[in-house]
Amino acid sequence: MEGRISETDPVLVAGAGGFIGGWLVRYLQESGFTHLRAVDNKPIGEWYQELPGVDNRVADLRSLEACKEAVDGMAHVYNLACDMGGMGFIEANKAHCMISVLINTHLLLAARDAGVERHFYASSACIYNVDLQQSPDVTALREEDAYPAMPEDGYGWEKLFSERMCRNFREDFGIQTRVARYHNVYGPHGTYDGGREKAPAAICRKVAAAKLAGDSEIEIWGDGEQTRSFMYIDDCLLGTTRIMESDILEPINLGSSELVTINQLVDIVEEIAGVRLKRRYNLDAPKGVRGRNSDNTRILEHLGWEPSTPLSVGLEKTYAWIHDQLTTSARHPREAVVSG
Ligand code: NAD
Repeated sequence: MEGRISETDPVLVAGAGGFIGGWLVRYLQESGFTHLRAVDNKPIGEWYQELPGVDNRVADLRSLEACKEAVDGMAHVYNLACDMGGMGFIEANKAHCMISVLINTHLLLAARDAGVERHFYASSACIYNVDLQQSPDVTALREEDAYPAMPEDGYGWEKLFSERMCRNFREDFGIQTRVARYHNVYGPHGTYDGGREKAPAAICRKVAAAKLAGDSEIEIWGDGEQTRSFMYIDDCLLGTTRIMESDILEPINLGSSELVTINQLVDIVEEIAGVRLKRRYNLDAPKGVRGRNSDNTRILEHLGWEPSTPLSVGLEKTYAWIHDQLTTSARHPREAVVSG
């Protein structure tokens, strides 16, 4: 069932204090949505973006009561709330990641009871069978590769279970659930330090910090030959809202198909920064799967579109923002926590 969402419909963005959620609220507002509610469990001062004219609320959505309050009066829900991070975080916090199952479960229950029409769930490429991702020379992952299931321990299993629950709620209760499997999303206004950051932000931070400090060396996790694709935030926002309004019932890849090694990612960031650094490879650091790419056949079939922002273009904006954060934090350490 395809359904254009009216700009006057009330929409909830869960996880709005985070990277993608913050951008989504801004994108919806700039697209003309007038009745937006934004919820996150972080104090508002720590949200990446806090927008005026939005019903901004702090609540822990692991609780059913909080979910009931959050969805009250809402017609549509985007669920981007999750306790997550890059490989360093998810490999060391599997139980933490599993507990996010409460967020989607309680949001779905509350949404069903409140008569919510559409519910979007942000899944991940981490649901794919790890056995298919052992070589840097990857065959891009197709949606049907999710089964037989052997996802990333912890985080991936939570995502796969929640995907399934969305499907069951659609089939049994008629709530229009939509699920996108994001492949590495990056851009400004996201986590770039503290242990939860992902590769593009981490590399931008390391290169910018080395440049600012006059250091000649950075650490790379693994041997740098692991491959990935990275999707710029603008593509993520367009894809997310188009999938939400589409008739795509099954989980679908939302990712770039521009495959690079981590070494190539570093090359691009160095070029943007105008530096060349020595690379110290830490082979004991968390590395994740050896290779991963997004097969975009299905999204092209359905939407006639796929994420296409070149990595060099998206990284230029991301690097500039992270560089700016580092220089601001050096000048005003207390303000560096909040950026918006
Ligand atoms: P993020 O960590 O920046 O944002 C998630 C937000 O959820 C955070 O602000 C966090 O405070 C909030 N949250 C956590 N627990 C909560 C709770 N109990 N109640 C309310 N809010 C809570 O992450 P992101 O990169 O914006 O990711 C958004 C979604 O996309 C997540 O579901 C994530 O798993 C998924 N995803 C992201 C990527 C990526 O590369 N960024 C890739 C695949 C999937």
